Amino acid sequence: MKIQEISGKTGLICLLGSPVSHSISPLMHNEAFRLRGLDYAYLCFDISEHEMEEAVSALKLLGARGFNCTMPDKIRMAELADELSDAARLIGAVNTVVIEDGRLIGHNTDGIGYMRSVKENGYDILGQKMTLLGAGGAATAIAVQAALDGVSEIALFNRKGRSWGRAEQLAAKLNQDTDCKVTLCDLEDADALAGQLKESVILTNATSVGMASHEDSSPIRDPRMLREDLIVSDVIYNPRETRLLAEARERGCRTFNGLYMLLYQGAAAFELWTGESFPLEEVKEKYFQ
Ligand code: NDP
Repeated sequence: MKIQEISGKTGLICLLGSPVSHSISPLMHNEAFRLRGLDYAYLCFDISEHEMEEAVSALKLLGARGFNCTMPDKIRMAELADELSDAARLIGAVNTVVIEDGRLIGHNTDGIGYMRSVKENGYDILGQKMTLLGAGGAATAIAVQAALDGVSEIALFNRKGRSWGRAEQLAAKLNQDTDCKVTLCDLEDADALAGQLKESVILTNATSVGMASHEDSSPIRDPRMLREDLIVSDVIYNPRETRLLAEARERGCRTFNGLYMLLYQGAAAFELWTGESFPLEEVKEKYFQ
């Protein structure tokens, strides 16, 4: 592995969370710093939720420029931030922090990453309806950013379990604070799903159903619901093609996975820390094929 030159002035940016050792963020950000000639280094620190406050104080003391945080720290970080972006406030979770004069400014770039991936895949969904599956971290970030960006309606589906109460709160908040109309439905209700899909331009799976080790499952039990002109996307990128995406492709739908969401959430964070554009093409070619 190539180690870039570290000087006495090198700025620190890092990832906090647990686990973090598998993360692609150090590779993509350090390569981007090198390509842009920026004197920063990006490192990973395995930090549990209850160590978060102490870790954040230490980063302030050390003069770090900022950091990412991953689960389970994203929600705790929203409480620790001095200021929140509109998206981070509505999501109630932070994945990117910029430290400005000792103040912690919390952002959430996951939804930005998804919305940008829609655009970069060649689609315009603003002013139209989306069917979104899930009510966890990824789904919440996507729902909020889609509503802020101008998607006109979201049909939000989750099973009636762990996240249902949170999904109800999310729908109520978005209906109140944005111009987007959000309807919450039970993922087990096949008629509701078929009905909402008929009116939607895009279906987004933001549940973890279909990810590696559960590759034979799909959140859509009957693929006949997937009409040919529906765009079908999955936030999962491992495997690259989930069962949902494979079945959608077989039915003639245009599909894309979560790889570019990951890339563009990182690009947005990089731009917040450095004020410079992210070297997209080079990083995409090296790490996101
Ligand atoms: P969460 O645990 O926060 O949420 C998981 C969601 O999936 C919940 O809505 C959960 O419902 C639902 N779910 C889980 N199992 C089932 C099931 N068997 N049937 C129906 N629904 C189910 O996870 P995240 O939101 O953080 O992550 C979700 C996926 O998104 C993961 O695969 C993750 O890898 C991916 N991801 C991709 C990113 C990217 O950049 N591309 C970024 C972040 C995440 P319930 O609460 O009822 O269990």
